[in-house]
Parts: sequence; C-alpha cells; structure tokens
Amino acid sequence: MSAPLSAPNVTITLPDGKTMTFARGVTGAEIAAAIGPGLAKAALAVEVDGQEWDIFRPIQADARLKIITRKDAEALEMIRHDTAHVLAMAVQALFPGTQVTIGPAIDDGFYYDFARNEPFTPEDLPKIEAKMREIVKADLPTHREVWPRDKAIAHFRDMGEQYKAELIGSIPEGEEVSIYFHGDWHDLCRGPHFASTAKIGDAFKLTKIAGAYWRGDAKNAQLQRIYGTAWRDQKELDAYLLKLEEQEKRDHRKIGRELELFTFSPDVGAGLPLWMPNGMVIRQELEFLALQEERKEGYRRVATPHIAKEALYYRSRHLPYYNEGMYSPLDIDGENYYLRPMNCPHHHLIFGATRHSYREMPIRIAEYGQDYRYEASGGLSGLMRVRGFCMNDAHIYCRYDQAKDEFIRVLRLHARYYDLLGIKEYYMRLSLPDMNKLDKYVDEPDKWVAALEIIKAAMDESGYRYVEGKGEAAFYGPKIDFMIKSAIGTEYTISTNQLDFLATQTFDLKYIGEDGAEHPVYVIHRAPLGTHERFTAFLIEHFAGAFPVWLAPVQARVIPISDKAGNYAQKVLKTLFDAPVTNGTAGLRVDIDAANERMQKKIRDAQLQKIPYMLVVGEREAAEGKVAVRLRSGKDLGTMPLETFVARIRQEAETRQDVAD
Ligand SMILES: [Zn+2]
Ligand SMILES: [Zn+2]
Repeated sequence: MSAPLSAPNVTITLPDGKTMTFARGVTGAEIAAAIGPGLAKAALAVEVDGQEWDIFRPIQADARLKIITRKDAEALEMIRHDTAHVLAMAVQALFPGTQVTIGPAIDDGFYYDFARNEPFTPEDLPKIEAKMREIVKADLPTHREVWPRDKAIAHFRDMGEQYKAELIGSIPEGEEVSIYFHGDWHDLCRGPHFASTAKIGDAFKLTKIAGAYWRGDAKNAQLQRIYGTAWRDQKELDAYLLKLEEQEKRDHRKIGRELELFTFSPDVGAGLPLWMPNGMVIRQELEFLALQEERKEGYRRVATPHIAKEALYYRSRHLPYYNEGMYSPLDIDGENYYLRPMNCPHHHLIFGATRHSYREMPIRIAEYGQDYRYEASGGLSGLMRVRGFCMNDAHIYCRYDQAKDEFIRVLRLHARYYDLLGIKEYYMRLSLPDMNKLDKYVDEPDKWVAALEIIKAAMDESGYRYVEGKGEAAFYGPKIDFMIKSAIGTEYTISTNQLDFLATQTFDLKYIGEDGAEHPVYVIHRAPLGTHERFTAFLIEHFAGAFPVWLAPVQARVIPISDKAGNYAQKVLKTLFDAPVTNGTAGLRVDIDAANERMQKKIRDAQLQKIPYMLVVGEREAAEGKVAVRLRSGKDLGTMPLETFVARIRQEAETRQDVAD
C-alpha cells in the first residue's frame, strides 16, 4: 500500500471508500480543509491506518484516514490527555520547582502525578483550574519534535525533571522519543495532541488531590496526584458532576457515620472496624438470613477459634503461598500462632475428625468466621477494605460425582440472595491460573484441568453469564468470583467460590466408598454474602442508607405530639415491641422520641436517620386507637388503626419485602 518515499503524491482513502490525492507531507488539517470548511473547523485529530495522529503531523505515504471530531468517542480520551498536559502547565506556572511525572487519561477524566515537597491543598484547586482556563484561552499552538533518546534525557535532567529523565531512560537505547510543545512548555509524550490548547474546550474540572507513589510502588518516592474530569461539552460534564454528587451522598463511610453503623479508633488500629449497635442489626439480620437459607440447603454450623499454630498453615500451604497476606506470629508458650487469614483449615479439621460414608456426602460446614489479613495501609477504605472481617463462610465436602451439582446449588444460592436484595448488576468471573506463573499455584496440571472442567460444566448448565479472568485463580484451584456493581458504579468482587482439589491431600480428607475403601473428596469454598464488612458497605451504598424494613436498625419511631398523648405513645411502642414476628432475629425494632421538641424537628430527625416509619400520635389517635403514619420519604400514609399498621410492618419484616407505596 505504501507509496515509495520519493513519490510526490500520496493517496488518502476515506472511511466511505473515496480516495483523494495530495502532495506528500500533507496534514490531517489540510485534508479536512479540502473536504469542506465545516470539517476543517471541527477536526481535532486523525486516525491514520488505524493509529491516532496529530492533525498537524505530515502524512508521508498512502493511507486510510479517518477525521476525528468532537462527536467521536475517540475525542474524549484525547480531550482528557490534553487537559492533563494543561494541568501540568498550570501547576508548573503556579508552583515553580514542581516536577512532572505522568498524567494519563483515565475513566471519567485524567490525573497528573507531581513531585513537590509542600502538599497541595483543596484551596489550590480553583486557582489551578483558573490558570488552566487561561492557558486554554491563550490558544497556545502545539508542535511535535522527535529527539534522540540521549538528548531527551540530558535535556530533562538539565531542567531538573528527574522523573521525566528516568522515564526516558527506561526507553530502549538508540530509540527516538517524541516531545510535545504547547507554547514553550513541553513534555515527553507519545501523543497525539490537538493543534492548540483552545481545542480542549471548557468542559473540565479538577476534582481531588490524593497521594501516589512513583511507578505505583510504595517503596518509591511519594507523589501528589491531582484528579480532574473533562468532557466533550458542558452537558456531559454536568451529568458527570451530578453522578459524583450522588456517589458522595451514598458513600458508605459518610452514611456509616451518620447512621452510627460502625466506627474506627486509632487505639484499635486502621482497618479494624468497631460495629455499633445499629450496624450490628444488619450483621445479625444477614446472619439469620444465611442461617435460614443454609438450613434449607443442608448446611450445619460450627464455631472455631481465630488463631492456630504455624504448622496448620504450612499444612494448608497458606505458608508459604500466602504469607504476605498474614500477620506476624504470636508467641504462646514458645510456639508460633497465627491470626487466621481464612477459616478453611479449621473446617477441614472438623470434617476430618469423624469418618464419613459415601451415603452422608456431601457434608456442608458453615460458620460466620472472623479472619485477619494484611492490607497495605494505603489500600484501606472504610468497610470496603479492612484488616479484620467476618465471612459468610462454608465448606462443602463432596464426592467427585457430586461436585458439579453442588457448585450449581451454590450459584443458585447467590442468585436467591441477590434477587431478595434487588441486586441486578452482577456477573460471574471464572478465574483461571496464569499458566506462565505456575509457581504461584499448586503445580498439578491434571487436577487443575479436571477442576476447571467441572466448574465450566457447572457454569454452562446453570446458564449464568460469566467472563474469564486469567491469572486470578486461588493457589489451590480455579474459582468463580461474583462481580457486583454498586449503585454508584464501582465494581468489585463480593464473593468467591472455589473448587479445591488440594485439601484432600494436605488434610487427608477422605470418605468411605461403597467399596469400603477411602476416596478423596472435593472441597467447595463459598461465601455468597461475602464478608459482613464488604457486604454491608455495598448494601449501604445500594440502599443509600434507606434499608428495607427487615434490615433497618430502627424500623419505626413513635412520636407523641403532646404530653397528653404520652401514655398512648408508650402503649403503641409496647404493642410493636411485643408483636410476634415469626421471621427475623428477635422482634420489631422500635423506639420513641419523647423529647420536648417540635414535632417537625422530630420528623426531620427520623428522616435523617432513614427510619422507615414515623408514627405520630396525639389525643385523637389515642381516643381512636390509631396511628398517623409517615414514611421517611416524606409521604403521609394517613391515619390507620394500630392493628393495621402492626400487620403491615410484621409482613414486611417476615417476608423481607417492603410494601410498595
Ligand atoms: Zn501527553
Ligand atoms: Zn475456604
């Protein structure tokens, strides 16, 4: 396709198949102008033989060419990358001596990592943003130069840009590097960039400051990251900012504080949550739900200690395979004990404590088990990433011929929970080993293949949608992760199911077959409700703190209008408290606001605490045996007989389904 370099002309093929001939060295901008003045104005960049190019870069050979305008999806990433450059320009103009490192486009925006001794403050952001708008308005032209690598290294080193010099140093020797100029400011960059800073437009905003490490490694120098967002137009930016606002409103750390669900204390330690009475309600309700569902599925509960001797973890191979996730041992009477990172070894010992005939199989052992795992302090985040957590754990010990069906039952159990909670955005990820890094896994290729076949057959038979993820497998077998998307768009792993062919050897787990001989078992590790910590964080964001009645820490609040209604209010409270609930951990959770405050304030307080029901009672309600029912949404359900309300809230608690209003 390529014309010889000496050819005076190049043939440009447009997406519709049309061809045009130009002098060699023609630019995308010139081609756009030849097509029409409208396009000349709208063109931001080009795609030359499938590669994104600057609009001002000469084309030296025949090529397929596509012109990119603001309307094209590809423009978005370029806008963000250009804006990142302008951010770096603004920061260096305002804070001389700051070194630049890297500044990529990311989902929803961009960031730039800077090396500066003093910290940036939130007050700096509007100043930087104003400077950025100045630079955009100045319409600084962009140009691209290609330098030999060594010249670039020396140049940036002389400028005092050590990080840039180091980056260029990691490019293979003898190669050339491209340098982009916007006015005088310039940066090592692969490009492409727009023809001038004004092409970015003004739909951008700086959003936050965070810490970062050079090359993402905590052992390296600490940098400061400034995040921003940039869009094609104001409408897109506004929609995104609205979404951000919604995210902040739903942030589980904020709601957790406001609703007094959990807290942290520096005296206990980072990543170790203290569950408050309101949060404990959610844990208990989830545990009770699990107890009921697991009972139907034939699980039996056990309880085991949080620590065990070192030898157990060598046997389970958590040591050495998983040692970076475990805490240093405790010395007890001269022996090393570890905080457990998982419950499996304890459960295996319970299975192994008795003999099991083929007729009893499968054996399903369940425990909400407390575990401790090391997480880097920088990775800790509210309840989402913690160092101590309680897992909805169970281990299913089954015959090989039962493994597929047991696995399908586990998948269905997940689906039941998710349906109940109205979780629609989830999918499964089949995690496979990275065959090039088998030293990270237990090296038993045949068993890996057999286990994979069982899991794949289970997935296909279940009909659930799944994707494959290479290199994500546990060291002892392939697994299925449930990936869930929260209401604010973050996706994470909520639970994991593994098929384990190793435990039968390491823990000598056998059953007695029909033939009277011992046979190996498969172990399924499962935790559909994940950990209390992560699952609750998810639920808080999912419901924005307005839990359905069955999960709400306080389900109804009685609000007497006057002292004269005080006795009746107490009677309403007691009636609800004593109402029999055939499902649910204990009974209804109700309280009373008898403070000497205006009714409107009491209603407002209850709404802020996201209490589903407010029962307003005065003398008239007392005389008629009724309650005036208000919802946290502000809706007024009017006055109804107390028995009618009790029946309604009981039904909601027992069915775990709120009545639609
Ligand atoms: Zn760049
Ligand atoms: Zn396990």
